[in-house]
Amino acid sequence: MYTHESLGSQFNIGHLCTRAQCDAGRGDKVALRWVPTALQRIDYTFTDLDLHSNRFANVLTGLGFQPGEIFFTFLPKATEQFFAFLGALKAQVVCGTLFANFGDEALLDRLGDSRARGVITKKQFLKKILRIRDRLPELEYIILVDSDEHQGNGILSYSLLMAGASDSFEVPPTGPETPSVLHYTSGSTGKPKGVLHCHRSIISQSYTTAHVLDLKEDDLLWCTADQGWVTGTSYGIIGPWSLGVAQLHYGGGYDAGEWFSLLEREGVTVWYSAPTALRMLMRESDDLYAKFDLSRLRHIYSVGEPLNPEVIHWSRRLLRHEIYDTWFQTETGAIMICNRPGVEVRPGSMGTPIPGIQPAILGDDGAPLPDGEQGNLCIRSGWPSMFATYLNNESAYQSKFRDGWYYTGDTARRDGDGHYWFMGRSDDVINTAGHLISPFEVESALLEIPEIVESGVIGAPDELLYEKVVAFIALRQGVEYSTALELKIRLYISNKVSSIATPQEIRVMERIPKNKSGKIMRRVLKATYLGTELGDVSTMEDL
Ligand code: AMP
Repeated sequence: MYTHESLGSQFNIGHLCTRAQCDAGRGDKVALRWVPTALQRIDYTFTDLDLHSNRFANVLTGLGFQPGEIFFTFLPKATEQFFAFLGALKAQVVCGTLFANFGDEALLDRLGDSRARGVITKKQFLKKILRIRDRLPELEYIILVDSDEHQGNGILSYSLLMAGASDSFEVPPTGPETPSVLHYTSGSTGKPKGVLHCHRSIISQSYTTAHVLDLKEDDLLWCTADQGWVTGTSYGIIGPWSLGVAQLHYGGGYDAGEWFSLLEREGVTVWYSAPTALRMLMRESDDLYAKFDLSRLRHIYSVGEPLNPEVIHWSRRLLRHEIYDTWFQTETGAIMICNRPGVEVRPGSMGTPIPGIQPAILGDDGAPLPDGEQGNLCIRSGWPSMFATYLNNESAYQSKFRDGWYYTGDTARRDGDGHYWFMGRSDDVINTAGHLISPFEVESALLEIPEIVESGVIGAPDELLYEKVVAFIALRQGVEYSTALELKIRLYISNKVSSIATPQEIRVMERIPKNKSGKIMRRVLKATYLGTELGDVSTMEDL
């Protein structure tokens, strides 16, 4: 286990996940089992990870990247994702990860705000970046994993660069506060914020991987999260490799039969997924599961959205496994509250805090609330994987802390035995299939459509996705709503923001309710949608 004392002067995540594992005698051990499609399998050892990431570290330093500068991955599941991420960290370059579905505007916000100097991607995504490149003056390099030639204008071939780079790299001593990973997260107002982590996060990530995910030397973990999100880096890269444990990564999408055959065929022992995926599996016929032998599977975990008790009961009945819910956020960097083996699971509760983590349920005035009452879920500040700041937005960072408590933005309650129950968000952020969507981002993109003059976006309850994106729009005078317009809106949001932000439902209104200072009253929109009481509307602008 890593501690400040045991790490001394070397906290470098890239080093600890690769070279340090080879030094501990795991050089020939499989680190990454890459299954690009159902018919292929390629194993990479810890030595392979070390050499590939060394080469990438040399590529970045050769291009003049300095410690602290920012580089992004913008890839679907691909091995280069892992080599680039670890290589960047070895060179003390901050590595941001972008979800491959992001559209132009989402990319522009993130690459622009961070002043990123480079990005690694695939040819199929190049056009998205080229469409916004003139607004990204700092973006010097675009590295293509599937191009055999450099194309000029800073567009470079990954294979050529890697072939010309040495596979040995001296990782500089890296202190705990050295910046490491950057993930953008959505708020309910303003642009997405860059959550900056530093190398000390590995302490919490390795601890929770060992003590929550319960990974042992011979385990094979399958964490289904995309590397564009925090679970995909904390537990799809850092946690398991920091302990020298093998991981499976699969290049295909959701397919119930294929997923179960992967679990069986590859002998996955620990599986970390999300409620939406589990609910999708639950919809399949019971017979499907009878065909598979999952005797190697030891544990199933879930993260990202509330895990409803029905899924837990389904898994107990059919898979003969508990599903352990885990709670954390981009800002916390690692699991804070969870269910885990050896601790009683109360279906519907997200569990108890891990040792060393002190949560509290506080009222808006900062006073602790009695057990059973809903309030702000807060964490005592100072845990090892606590984010270092919001990039270029220290005041937003400071506003998340009060009297030594970090306010998570979630509401919860604690029962008399110390189990925490998620209640919702204290802001308007939408959680659809475990992805946080900013209503503001979607509202702004909607307003770019000429037919739309006003917009308001909310999350509404959904059986499968937990929440769905619902857009309210007011149309320009003379414009008629039509199927063609609806299609246009959906496509526009998908291309500009991302496919997951595309409204599932669009409703037309005369005018969008706003308060007297012009702020969209999403609370009123939500009540309208649900057909519930509108509540206090005294601040509402006259319609
Ligand atoms: P992100 O920062 O994108 O990882 O999203 C974090 C947010 O997802 C949390 O603040 C919660 O609102 C939600 N979330 C994560 N895990 C859980 C969970 N186990 N139960 C309920 N909500 C969760």
